[in-house]
Amino acid sequence: MSKPAIEIRGLGKMYRESDGDAAFRALGDVNLTIGDGEFVSLIGPSGCGKTTLLKIIDGLIPFDEGELLVKGQPIRGPGRERAVVFQNFALLPWLNVRDNIAFGLKLQGTDAAAMRQTADELISMVGLDGFADRYPRQLSGGMQQRVGLARALAVDPAILLMDEPFGALDAQTRNILQGDLLDIWDRSRKTVVFVTHAMDEAVFLSDRVVLMGTHPGRVHEVIDIDLPRPRTDETRSDPRFVELSSYVWEVLRTMIGHPRRQVAAAS
Ligand code: ADP
Ligand code: MG
Repeated sequence: MSKPAIEIRGLGKMYRESDGDAAFRALGDVNLTIGDGEFVSLIGPSGCGKTTLLKIIDGLIPFDEGELLVKGQPIRGPGRERAVVFQNFALLPWLNVRDNIAFGLKLQGTDAAAMRQTADELISMVGLDGFADRYPRQLSGGMQQRVGLARALAVDPAILLMDEPFGALDAQTRNILQGDLLDIWDRSRKTVVFVTHAMDEAVFLSDRVVLMGTHPGRVHEVIDIDLPRPRTDETRSDPRFVELSSYVWEVLRTMIGHPRRQVAAAS
């Protein structure tokens, strides 16, 4: 078996107030191993530390306890093998689509011709042919997120970290982008860690869904999604899909202490 892409052992994270004494435990004893090429979603109540965990994996913020290995190596900060797609797209408004996508390559000192070629291939891959010279403000939310995805893919990361990337999009656009993301993942076989608060989205996309709990943030349960691939629109009406989605909801509801709605007594 090849080395796992990501190994997280006993990981803990405190946020400290700037005055130094008060500390908030955002993550405690997080354990999770993510295989190479696996698609894993993180889901859980707001504030359970999903974004924190993703930022730690990206190397953007430090952690206090435990161990985090990427391809068997402890990480010391952001690295070329990891790229992030954010919910708010985070595009540079003064750059057009092509230059936004090429931005990371430019930082790496890639030459102009190679940069343009990669950007144009990605524009095609994410379905934005003809939009290379447009600016972010001229694009719909769905198109802006296609640019966000292409920009992350441009540096050819082994690991793609996505923080509620479709959270700001309408339901139809989101469904289309989910399908497109799976097509791209299928072709590139990157490892994906996908944060979402949408249960159906987590089930539709993933090999495994990681349910996180709070106080402190931790892994509550990991659910294998044994739906066949490729996943298509028919998947959404597959009884197994419905069953898995309701199971995820059941666990989350129990976790946040929401009582099951009383069903009127049958006659
Ligand atoms: P999620 O993405 O699951 O909603 P976050 O990772 O954003 O959760 O936050 C986890 C917890 O850590 C929350 O209680 C949040 O208020 C707290 N938190 C997040 N970022 C900071 C920060 N920079 N400083 C202090 N507390 C933070
Ligand atoms: Mg978050």
